[in-house]
Amino acid sequence: MADKITQNADGSLNVTDTPIIPFIEGDGTGIDIWPAARSVLDAAAAKYGRTVEWKEVLAGQKAFDNTGDWLPNETVEVFRDYLIGIKGPLTTPIGGGFRSLNVALRQILDLYVCLRPVRWFQGVPSPVKHPEAVDMVIFRENTEDIYAGLEVEAGTPEAARMRELLADAFGWEIRADAGIGIKPISEMGSKRLIRAAIQYAIDRNRPSVTLVHKGNIMKFTEGAFRNWGYELTREEFDAVAVGWDDCDGKPGDRVLVKDAIADIALQQVLTRPDEFDVIATMNLNGDYLSDALAAQVGGIGIAPGGNINYVTGHGIFEATHGTAPKYAGQDKVNPGSVLLSGVMMYEHLGWTDAANDIVTAMEATISEGIVTYDFARLMDNATEVKCSEFASAIVDRI
Ligand code: NAP
Repeated sequence: MADKITQNADGSLNVTDTPIIPFIEGDGTGIDIWPAARSVLDAAAAKYGRTVEWKEVLAGQKAFDNTGDWLPNETVEVFRDYLIGIKGPLTTPIGGGFRSLNVALRQILDLYVCLRPVRWFQGVPSPVKHPEAVDMVIFRENTEDIYAGLEVEAGTPEAARMRELLADAFGWEIRADAGIGIKPISEMGSKRLIRAAIQYAIDRNRPSVTLVHKGNIMKFTEGAFRNWGYELTREEFDAVAVGWDDCDGKPGDRVLVKDAIADIALQQVLTRPDEFDVIATMNLNGDYLSDALAAQVGGIGIAPGGNINYVTGHGIFEATHGTAPKYAGQDKVNPGSVLLSGVMMYEHLGWTDAANDIVTAMEATISEGIVTYDFARLMDNATEVKCSEFASAIVDRI
């Protein structure tokens, strides 16, 4: 008998040893990487007497072929009901009414944190000298910023109307041939994101949270995000965290909340990675930072992600790469991204023992030179294996 994951009155999750977890296999290489990742997740859970009952739900091409719908309502309702789920990559339908299925899921379930841990795994080929110094966790705001989709196209009647409104109301002159986008950053949206980042730092004994922003230029959006972060630290975390200005950079045993301008931060994560730990930032900065950092640790193909609402308890963990259609069905690509997303999911459920075992076994496998084609082409003397063989090698080491 398997059980639904539920939320306790204090907001924590109630997870038995036999939870039901919905999954979307994913399009393209999803048919290769999901079964591979699942075999590793099952082996690690079994070691501790646990069994996940995986419940398939449809989205993307498979959903369209079966139901005529790219994102069936039933899929959304299952995720809403079962709280925690995992997904492979999805084709973005062209002219299908969605900007992206991933974005649609995040918006419908209000998954306001995009969580992207970035660390190096022993043996992974990297373009920098000391990839081991990179160990950061990015909290990227998922619902606001210029990603809100509030844009008008140059030359349209909507753009003309917008220019008129702005000229009348504020005296703002905007060029006649300009497209215009709107960047909303709210106090509520900023504080709930930063609150989650600070709480994560406290729970995981991380020493600092850096607020990354471009507030010197965009004072009332990015600057406000920074100010709200320090305000929140004083209001809600007084005993356990402290802002840089309130302690002169000497936090004692409290979590230090500091800030960095986005352009400088992008340099310093490369030149002084030791100084960054948990990072909280808005949608666009977070997008750039996540991929720039993932590249430093050689992890573009294996970077994991999670989209979480810490208030409602909802979370969907996902491969961060796309469907790589040219490799679909060849049992070739690296299952690391969806597998490590499963590791994040296990950590989120409190199954840190099984999560740690997977990471240790994966590091051992890569260190022995047993890797998929993407790593093999960057390593000397590697043994190139198939997607499923890489997963089996990890299972053997669990
Ligand atoms: P992509 O699928 O991420 O593939 C780009 C390249 O990344 C591949 O050609 C391959 O590089 C490498 N790659 C991707 N997955 C890999 C894996 N598991 N192991 C090793 N290498 C991997 O990006 P795309 O071709 O731009 O997008 C294809 C489709 O995916 C589009 O429909 C797009 O909308 C969608 N997409 C979905 C998501 C998502 O669901 N989260 C994200 C991005 C894109 P090499 O050619 O060098 O081997």
